[in-house]
Amino acid sequence: MKQPVGPRWIYYRSYIQLFSTLLANSYFLRGLKGFCYPGLNCWSCPAANFACPIGALQYSSITARGGLAAGKPLGSVLPLYVLGTLVMCGALLGRMMCGWLCPFGWLQDLMGRLRRGKYKLPKWTGYIRYVILVGAVFVIPYYTGVPWFTKLCPQGALQGGIFQPLLYPELRAGIQSMWYVKQSILVVTLVAMIFTRRPFCIVICPLGAIFSLFNPWSAWQIKYDAEACTDCEWCVVNCPVGIDPRREVDGANCISCLECQKCPYGAIYSQPRWWPRRSETVPTSPEVIS
Ligand code: SF4
Ligand code: SF4
Ligand code: SF4
Repeated sequence: MKQPVGPRWIYYRSYIQLFSTLLANSYFLRGLKGFCYPGLNCWSCPAANFACPIGALQYSSITARGGLAAGKPLGSVLPLYVLGTLVMCGALLGRMMCGWLCPFGWLQDLMGRLRRGKYKLPKWTGYIRYVILVGAVFVIPYYTGVPWFTKLCPQGALQGGIFQPLLYPELRAGIQSMWYVKQSILVVTLVAMIFTRRPFCIVICPLGAIFSLFNPWSAWQIKYDAEACTDCEWCVVNCPVGIDPRREVDGANCISCLECQKCPYGAIYSQPRWWPRRSETVPTSPEVIS
């Protein structure tokens, strides 16, 4: 088979994921905690520099109820800053935040390399994350006043639940049963990452659910050229989420990592949305050539 090709910059993805994780958790920029990071990164990690957008959305849901009850207008209780950040990122880049920036996504890529995630999840599991987004991020916090997704989030269990008690002995003394539940969820998630590719991104993540909505409409698009494809299936074997790029590239489960753009036959490429498709730029009939 021919060797993988594609532009040089797409080969730096792992380094960008590492840089992003360090940027979000370098401790020295902690004055930026009022800003949301466009990836799942726990606010309560001792080294975290930014806020988690999902945590911010949940707290907005909780405070919105009190605000509405006090007679505030709807516009003043909506989390416009967080939503605006997510909409802007999604509209420009779709799910590239998942493929290139998210620290928890990077962890899943690393764990997946242990066994190359051989087991494939049924397609319907990809709808669960939307239920979690609506239920655990908006509706349940709004009615109960409790941020339930944060309580159960494995990224929070890892970054906040382990590093905080390690650093602060007084927190160790206060550990309760909920901490064990959360750590158990983390262990199950870590094991699942070994056997199937990016299980948390596909099934659970509400932030991924938000970015998924933008993938088909974003300014940066990934295209498949069926005429150049030889059906060698190199892209299917190497897709980090285990989908078939020939059918699902830029779909809701595609994390826009551009791994499939390394296609040895150049059949997958990415470009701004308004550029014509490659086949549209090639003259195909004698009339056009003349
Ligand atoms: S879907 Fe995965 S990569 Fe995207 S934000 Fe969630 S954890 Fe991160
Ligand atoms: S797009 Fe076609 S030619 Fe390219 S890697 Fe996938 S199956 Fe092979
Ligand atoms: S289809 Fe391509 S861009 Fe999408 S997740 Fe798979 S390899 Fe990455």
